[in-house]
Amino acid sequence: MSTRWVFTVSEMISFATETRAQAKSLALVPTMGALHEGHLSLVRKAKLQCEVVVVSIFVNPMQFGPTEDFARYPRDPEKDFTLLQSSKVHAVFAPSVAEVFPAGFSTSVDPGPIATVLEGAQRPGHFRGVATVLLRLLNIVRPDVAVFGQKDFQQVVVIRHLVEDLNLPVRIVVCPTVREADGLAMSSRNAYLDARDRRAAVLLSRSLKRAEEMAQAGETDTQRLLAEMHRVFNAEPSLQLDYATIVDPAKLEPVAQAVPGTVALVAARLGTTRLIDNLIFGPPGSTPDMKLQLALSSRAPDKEGSADTRPEIERLRIKIENCRDCAAVSSISLPPREFLVKYLQRDYPDLGSTRVLVIGGCAPMHSAASPYSHPEASSLFFIRLYDLLGVRDFTEFKAHCVLTDAARCHASGNRVDERTLEYCAKHLREELKLFPNLRSIVVLGEYAYLQFLRHILGRERANITRFGELLKSEGWAQETVRLPWQGERDVRIFYCYHPTFESRKSPSLAASLDLKP
Ligand code: AMP
Repeated sequence: MSTRWVFTVSEMISFATETRAQAKSLALVPTMGALHEGHLSLVRKAKLQCEVVVVSIFVNPMQFGPTEDFARYPRDPEKDFTLLQSSKVHAVFAPSVAEVFPAGFSTSVDPGPIATVLEGAQRPGHFRGVATVLLRLLNIVRPDVAVFGQKDFQQVVVIRHLVEDLNLPVRIVVCPTVREADGLAMSSRNAYLDARDRRAAVLLSRSLKRAEEMAQAGETDTQRLLAEMHRVFNAEPSLQLDYATIVDPAKLEPVAQAVPGTVALVAARLGTTRLIDNLIFGPPGSTPDMKLQLALSSRAPDKEGSADTRPEIERLRIKIENCRDCAAVSSISLPPREFLVKYLQRDYPDLGSTRVLVIGGCAPMHSAASPYSHPEASSLFFIRLYDLLGVRDFTEFKAHCVLTDAARCHASGNRVDERTLEYCAKHLREELKLFPNLRSIVVLGEYAYLQFLRHILGRERANITRFGELLKSEGWAQETVRLPWQGERDVRIFYCYHPTFESRKSPSLAASLDLKP
C-alpha cells in the first residue's frame, strides 16, 4: 500500500468521500509535522480504530501568537512522509496556508472560558486558532475518529468541548504521552534545545513524577504537592516557570485535593523554547491509559441535570458514546463502533414492530455488505439469514427484526477483551429496552453464543454447554429466559449456526419465530 500525499482541500474531500462510499471507517490524526514517536503512537491508535487513516500536517499560523515561533517551527516534510509511509497511513494531508485559509477567510471559533486559562492565558488566541483549524479539518475530512495526545491536555479538553457543543459527528480518542528515556515528553520543540537546556528540560517531567510519588504515598494536599514540584524546578535557575498547577480535569480549575483523575500541568520556558507537560493522578499501579480514562470520564456537571428533550434513541446514543466505560475502552484499545441506536432512528420508525433481535457474530454491519448502509447490498450472510428467518428480503427483515453484531459490534479489532465485552453488553441491554415487543433473540454462531451467555445472561463459563454439543442433534437449540432488564418478560432465545458456517446449517426458524404481530 502506498501513502498518498494530498495537498489540496478538494482532493482531500474527494479522498474522504471515496472512503465513505466504500463504507470504510476513517480516522484523522491532526499534527503540525516534525513527527516523532508521540505522533506515531497516535497513528498506531488510529489504525486500531479505523480502516483508513489520514494524518494532516499543517503548521497552523492562527494558533501562534505574534511573538511566537511560527516561522522557525521545525518542518521536515520528507522525513515525515517516510515515517508515515512506513506506518502505512493511507493519506497525508499537507495543505498550504493559502489552501486552509484562503483569501477572505474570516470565521473563527471561540471555545469559551476553558480556553482562557493556563495555555489560553499564556497564549491569548491560541485555542481559537486550534479550534478554528480543527473544525475546518474535521469538516474537510469528516472522520469517524480523530486522535489526539494527552501531551496537550488542555487542547484535548477544548476539543472535546468543541465536539460536544457543536454536535460534531466524530469520536475523540486520546493517547498517553510518549516520553524520552529520561522522562521528557516528546515534542517537536525539543529540537530547539541545546545540550544544557535539554538537561534542564527533564525537570518538567521530574517535578510531575515527584508529585505522583507523593500522591501514591498518600499525600493528597495539592499545596504540598505543588511545593514539592516548585522545589524541583528551583534546582535549575535557567528554567522559567509559566505555571504549575493541579486542576480538576473537566473544568481545569485548581483543586485542594488530588484524587484519581486530577491533573497536574506545568509550562516552562528555557531560553526561547516553551515546553509543557502534565500528569494524571491515579491509584498505584494504574496504567497511563487507565489514568487517562479517569480524567476523561470526569465530566463537567453542567449539562447532566438539565431537562433533556431529545428523542429517547438520541439520548441513548449520546449516553453510549459518552459512556465513561467506553471512554475507557476507547483510550485503552477498542473503540465503540456500531450501536443499534446509530441506525434505529433512520431505519426503525416504529420500534414496536420489532419482534426479533438477531445477534450475529461478525455480521457485516460496517461494510459495503451491510444493507443498513447499502440497502441493495447482498452477501452470503444476509441471503442465508433471510432463509433462516423465513423473510424475503431486507425490507421484510426490517419490518420485524433488528440486527446487531454481538458485543463485537461495539469494537473494531479482532481481539476483544472481557471488560470491553462487559461494557458492550451493558449497552446492548439498554438498547433492547427500546423494543417494547421484543419476543425472541436469535444468536448466530459460537462466538455470539459465548458472548451472549457470558455477558448478557451473566452465566459462568464452566456452566456453558459447548456450542457444537448443544446444536448437535437438531442443528439449533432454544430456551426461554426471563430478562430482568426487559421488563421481566420471557424472551425466547434461539441458538443457531452462523449463516456463513460451511459444514452445518440450522433449519428454518420461520415457524417458531412467528414474526407477525
Ligand atoms: P503537534 O504536532 O505538536 O501539534 O501534535 C500533534 C498531536 O500529537 C497532538 O494531538 C499532540 O497532543 C500529540 N502529541 C505530541 N507530542 C506527543 C507525545 N509526546 N505523546 C503523545 N502525543 C503527542
